[in-house]
Amino acid sequence: MSAPVYIVVGAGHAAAAAVAAMRGAGFAGRIILIGDEPHVPYERPPLSKDVLLSPGTGPRPIYPADYYATHDIETRFGALVERIEPAARRLVLADGETLVYDKLLLATGARARRYPLLDALGEGVHVLRTLEDGQGLQKELLPGRHLLVVGGGIIGLEVAASAAKLGVAVTVLERAPRLMTRGVPLPLVNILRALHEQQGVSFELSVELTEATRGPNGQFHLRAADGRTFAGASILYGVGVEINDRLTREAGLALDNGVLVDELCRTSVPEIFAAGDIARQFQPFLGEAVRQETWANAVHQGTLAGRVMATGEGVAFEVPWYWTDQYGINFQVAGKYEADEWLARGDPASGKYMLFGLTGGRVTGAVTVNNGRDMKLAKLMIAAGASPDPALLCDTAHELRKLKLG
Ligand code: FAD
Ligand code: NAP
Repeated sequence: MSAPVYIVVGAGHAAAAAVAAMRGAGFAGRIILIGDEPHVPYERPPLSKDVLLSPGTGPRPIYPADYYATHDIETRFGALVERIEPAARRLVLADGETLVYDKLLLATGARARRYPLLDALGEGVHVLRTLEDGQGLQKELLPGRHLLVVGGGIIGLEVAASAAKLGVAVTVLERAPRLMTRGVPLPLVNILRALHEQQGVSFELSVELTEATRGPNGQFHLRAADGRTFAGASILYGVGVEINDRLTREAGLALDNGVLVDELCRTSVPEIFAAGDIARQFQPFLGEAVRQETWANAVHQGTLAGRVMATGEGVAFEVPWYWTDQYGINFQVAGKYEADEWLARGDPASGKYMLFGLTGGRVTGAVTVNNGRDMKLAKLMIAAGASPDPALLCDTAHELRKLKLG
């Protein structure tokens, strides 16, 4: 009998974690990793940070380039999977090659949502998802230039921070009446806004763009529905993502704002698994099925899917968590973003503190500011549904690890 063949489509975080988990769990069959980007799997978080701050920064590989060969993992980089045929357990690449699998993992992630009004302006308008996007934007972040950032979400704010640090004048235009409408506790939104304003970044909220033009001097001019106008030399927009779900849609897998997977990352087709930005899974700590767009989720689900494919066994769920670095400050966020109240532990003026979100007296969310060391404990408290005495929780003289869990 020939060795089983496991194929992983997409070569990002989830995919890299999955192939490593398969080999780590002792799977001895063939592994084929296919991705349409021309690189070994690389880290995306530096794209809005180090890659913008330091000209010439290349990709930061998730594993060294020789890792795949030394672990007997076949790779096809720069190769697009055109179609999957679940009934025949077969997939077809854009160059016509056909591959047959025993098990398949879809880790095709997401792409930047396009904004045709801005795309029509051509050169000088940027999105940020790939290494090439980051390197292209970096070249325009010159001191004294003016960058218009459209979208006051996580990409918008991280790029604004990097650009401001480089001496670029930045205006952020957000459609909603507040920044970061998704995925951030409200107190943190206020902290981030104040921080950016101290660094000279200006914000324009409730901006519905209606017109975009380029003047004879190359300057961009944007007009909002209420008549406000904005000018700048470059534009970066970050208005969310669209998941790369064409393959799964055409193959008839169950989809609903993401490929639906169970607790073991199995899709509605027995031999097909999904992980990372593309997958929607029930999250016990949130009490609902969610599609998470974070590094930690890609690594966790990739590892889970790889292990399940190799052994049938899962790994424990983790409390949802992510970080963002802005102006050299590390912010980490875990658990639910909404809470009855948010309590501070530590003095915000010291620059190192935490926020705890309490709902019905239980810890349901946490934020650390330059205090990542304590995030592990905060996640344990969220996982346990801890209900600490609020006075002790806020008192830094009382050690966090001595607070009662549960
Ligand atoms: P992806 O990384 O999107 O990888 C999917 C890959 O599959 C892509 O290379 C795609 O081109 C490829 N693909 C798609 N379709 C096909 C096909 N048909 N054939 C072949 N290949 C295909 N998260 C954090 O927690 N903290 C951060 O600080 C942070 N910073 C970020 C900064 C930036 C600029 C970006 C863009 C994201 C950041 N993230 C951060 C989010 C995190 O990087 C993503 O959640 C993570 O990359 C998702 O991994 P993935 O493997 O699911 O998908
Ligand atoms: P996002 O966080 O969803 O934010 C998009 C923002 O753009 C929202 O505030 C949205 O407001 C706004 N917007 C949408 N359409 C607009 C318009 N026409 N004009 C002005 N504003 C508009 O998405 P993102 O910032 O683009 O990030 C993309 C991806 O990168 C995500 O997957 C994210 O997780 C990932 N990322 C993560 C990190 C991190 O975790 N540290 C860092 C960078 C990137 P509305 O609510 O009104 O739509």
